[in-house]
Amino acid sequence: MTILVTGGAGYIGSHMVLELLDAGERAVVLDDLSAGFPWAVAEGAPLVVGDSGDQALVARLIRDHGIDAIIHFAASVIVPDSVRDPLGYYRNNTVNSRALIECAIANGIRQFIFSSTAAVYGDPAKVPANEDTPTQPTSPYGWSKLMSEIMLRDAAHAHGLNHMILRYFNVAGGDPRRRAGQSSKAATHLIKVAVETALRLRSKLEIFGTDYPTPDGTCIRDYIHVSDLTCAHLDALRHLRAGGPSLTLNCGYGRGFSVREVIDTVKRVAGVDFRVETAPRRAGDPARIVADAEKVRTMLGFKPRFDNLATIVEHALAWERELMMRRARAEPEPAASTPPGSERAGRRAK
Ligand code: UDP
Repeated sequence: MTILVTGGAGYIGSHMVLELLDAGERAVVLDDLSAGFPWAVAEGAPLVVGDSGDQALVARLIRDHGIDAIIHFAASVIVPDSVRDPLGYYRNNTVNSRALIECAIANGIRQFIFSSTAAVYGDPAKVPANEDTPTQPTSPYGWSKLMSEIMLRDAAHAHGLNHMILRYFNVAGGDPRRRAGQSSKAATHLIKVAVETALRLRSKLEIFGTDYPTPDGTCIRDYIHVSDLTCAHLDALRHLRAGGPSLTLNCGYGRGFSVREVIDTVKRVAGVDFRVETAPRRAGDPARIVADAEKVRTMLGFKPRFDNLATIVEHALAWERELMMRRARAEPEPAASTPPGSERAGRRAK
């Protein structure tokens, strides 16, 4: 029994592969390397370079590797980019998910876990948002994920696919053993940008909007450690394998931090000061989004291990330093030279 991890060379996907291998599972990665890195895929998981919407390729992988479960991460995930390029987001996220779900059903996949997002709630009237809070995305990214959720639920209802929809709040941090982390070169996510600024990889950090209706005027988010998030996926897989019902679950800690609070934490943990400027609001940003995170704990028995903003920042900093060392040593980050659909054997997690 093998698990197909789409987007397994990316930030969250690469941590998922580690989580699966650590738990003694077998995993195969399908990634188009648009945002991921071949070296991020842990040893023991073959990497197949290709598109998660390529049904012929996915069907072949399911057959060749005896795949019975899919965890679908592959997606474009930058809110402002989705405002600029909505059709690209609908193709990459919604159209590809449709193809993958169809292929999963046609090929007898037993469990399907889908990466969704708190962005489906938009700017929720009620905070914290629980899973029944009305969905009203404020960006094409949020809509692209919500449409995929709807397709998955409807198709699963019609064809009996056991599934889990996990709505991620703000994912940050890195593997505590520094085997993986957020490695994007043009990262936009707050904690990544802040640790890069703390390490002088950027000259300043801009706060996008200081006139939101929040106590300090900056946006509030619920930050979850990436390794807790992947642990929730493993819990979800076990739940489905044990015959548990298909569910939609928030993945957050239930506590919000403002942009200014995050910046202060990064300065404190890194032990440095850095330049912070205010800038206009960014398109598509809701003011405040925090999870009601009860259901994932009660339904899956999920127990977070890193529910602490300082720990998240510490691990993000540790990974950033690791990345700087690797880049200084000019360790190879192989280009996407593998022809589409071809397989590369598992690599050692660096
Ligand atoms: N943010 C910011 N400066 C940055 C990056 C992000 O002020 O350089 C803000 C952003 O406007 C939002 C919050 O930090 O209010 C979280 O943004 P991020 O991109 O990390 O995640 P999102 O909530 O958009 O998924």
